[in-house]
Parts: sequence; structure tokens; C-alpha cells
Amino acid sequence: MNYKNTHLTRAIIHLDHLTHNMKVLQKKAGKRPLFPAIKANAYGHDAEIIAKHLISLGYTTLCTAHLSEAAELVEKGVNATFIILSPTLAENSDYLLDYDFQPIVSSQVQLQALAQAARRRDKQITIHVKVDTGMGRMGVRPDQLLMFLDECKAQPEIIIGGVCSHFPRADENNLSFSKTQINTFTALKKETKAYNIPLYHIANSAALFALEEAHLDAIRPGISIYGLKPSVSMVVPELNDLKPIMSLVSRITLLKEVVQDTGISYGHLHYTDKPSLIATIPIGYGDGLSRSLSNRIEVLIGNERCRQIGNICMDQCMIDVTQLRGKVSIGDEVVIIGTQGSETITADDLAKKQHTVNYEIVTAISSRVPRIVA
Ligand code: PLP
Repeated sequence: MNYKNTHLTRAIIHLDHLTHNMKVLQKKAGKRPLFPAIKANAYGHDAEIIAKHLISLGYTTLCTAHLSEAAELVEKGVNATFIILSPTLAENSDYLLDYDFQPIVSSQVQLQALAQAARRRDKQITIHVKVDTGMGRMGVRPDQLLMFLDECKAQPEIIIGGVCSHFPRADENNLSFSKTQINTFTALKKETKAYNIPLYHIANSAALFALEEAHLDAIRPGISIYGLKPSVSMVVPELNDLKPIMSLVSRITLLKEVVQDTGISYGHLHYTDKPSLIATIPIGYGDGLSRSLSNRIEVLIGNERCRQIGNICMDQCMIDVTQLRGKVSIGDEVVIIGTQGSETITADDLAKKQHTVNYEIVTAISSRVPRIVA
């Protein structure tokens, strides 16, 4: 018996939903290539599982944040072109060359280090030059782009595979800032025509769905491939066609009758107001269920919504299942994210209660939770 099967809290990954979502995205993108973002363990969904499925669907260019993420996938047999979204230090340039990764570059320090490393090996390296059209993070300033491209061209070891940028506010209802960014980026595209750059890419999921003029030559979708909306306020109808690909489930490990006024868990955040039946489930903040959600969420048991009570511990939390007395047993399934009967709890529901975004909810699910393909 595999001991891993004994872990009762699991993230179930529905690859049929991933296939479905990619069809929805590709319909929006037309013939343009999609470069899915599978950074941070594919937003918590298991990068190896997701990458291999994406490749089987024909998506062969994938984005990770760090070179270490892409290298780990290559070592696991993932055969793709990797774009590395975050800057690397000079001392790691050789790894980028070893693996033929395509870094996104916006500093002279990184550019020179890459060119030197490539020269030493008598190799060339393909890079994407980032321009900051308004993200305020990585990227050269628009007024410095031509100069930076000239510096790239001056290095025979450097191949410019693309020029890219990123949106900070494309998931908002008011798209005026994003439209200004598109104007800046498309003006730069015209200005840099003579450089014969093969790809200009700026769109993330939000822009794929809400800003057709941003589609340009390629799109880097992340959150939407996992079936989640870039923000709850977006009202693009096709976003409702997406299907979340992860559900988070556990099992009841203990059931206990307690008397009225029993304090539950650390700090006694909750006292029972009547004799109650309390279930313990093996999920806590060590699994990525934030302690800030304590006493504020529901889970699904026996097709009913049941309240989580008391502080969420590192490895456990308690559920009031008094309403299910006589109908609930140790071992019963618990849904933290997903559907049971006619009830559904989404990553967005948890995000709202945690005052964060669905991205953080799924990405925070820790490595202790096995990802199991449905
Ligand atoms: N491109 C870059 C540079 C990113 O940092 C990200 C994610 O943060 C994406 C694309 C994908 O964005 P999203 O998950 O909103 O589609």
C-alpha cells in the first residue's frame, strides 16, 4: 500500500476541465498561440500534471516565474519551450543556457551576463525584452526600449524572440488605464518594426477575455486555464463557461458530542451555544487553509453546508455537524472547495472571506496536500 494514499486531504485535479477551459480560451484567442502560465506549481494545481496535459493538448510554450521551476519540470520529463518571467541573477545565466530557457530581460546587467555566458559556450540565447507600460514592476521604460533593443542587437549571441509587457488592471470594470497601456505598446510595436521582432505579447487572462485589441501575437493566460475568473467583478459572459479544475476535499477523522458552553480550539474563539456534535477534519493552515478564515467558512458534508468553528489549527479544524446527528460518520467526505449534491463552495468564496484573490487561495495549498488526478 502506498502511504501517500493515507493522506485524507486532497486536491482533486479535473483534467477534463482543463481541456474544456483551453477550448474556451483558444476560441477567444483565435489562431494566436497561448503560452500558459504554470508558475508557483501551476497556481497550486501541480505543475507537472498540468504541464504534461497542456503539452498533450498541443501547448508547447509554457511560462514559469523562476528558472528553478522550469528546470524541475524538465528533470521530470516535461519537454516544452519555457519562458522565464522573472529576472535571474548573472551567476545563474549558465542554467538558462543549459536548458535553452527563454528569459524575459529588462536590465543591462542581465543582458550582459547572458551574452557573456553564451559567448563562453559559443551558443545563442533567445530572450524576450520586457517594457513597463504601466505595471510598475519589471521592464525597461518605454522611452528606453529602442536603446535597449540596440544593446541586444549589438550582442550576436542574443536573439530577440519577443517584446512583452504586462497589465496591472485589466481585470477591472474601468479599462481606461489598460487601454492607455495598449496604445503605448502598439505604438512601440510600430516604432520597432525595423527590428523584425517576431512576437509582441502583453495579454494575461483578463485581457484575453476583455481586451481584444491586446491579443496581438501571443497570449500568456494563467488563472483562466485553471477555470477561475481573474476577478469577480468581470462580467464577460464567456468567463462563466470556465470550469474550476481543482476541488479540495477531506474526510472526517473524529466525531464528538460536547455539552453547551464548550470552548473549541486554541483561544476558545467559539463556545457551543447548545449540546453539539463536532467533527474534526485534517486540514489546517499547514495545508494552506489560512487561520484568518477561522470561524468564518462553511464546508460541505452530507450535501449540507456546515460551519467551521473555532480557530483553524496547523493540521486540523473543527466543524459543527449538529444538524447531521444520526446521519454523519467518521470517514465521511468533506468538501472545502468544490461541489457536493446541489451545493458548491468556490475559491472565490474563500477569497472574499480572506480579503484576497482566488489566485492566493489555490496557490497557498501546501505541498503536504497530494494532487490527485480525478
Ligand atoms: N504574464 C505575467 C508576466 C504574469 O506575471 C502573469 C501572472 O501573474 C501572467 C502572465 C498570467 O496572468 P493571469 O493569471 O492573470 O492570467
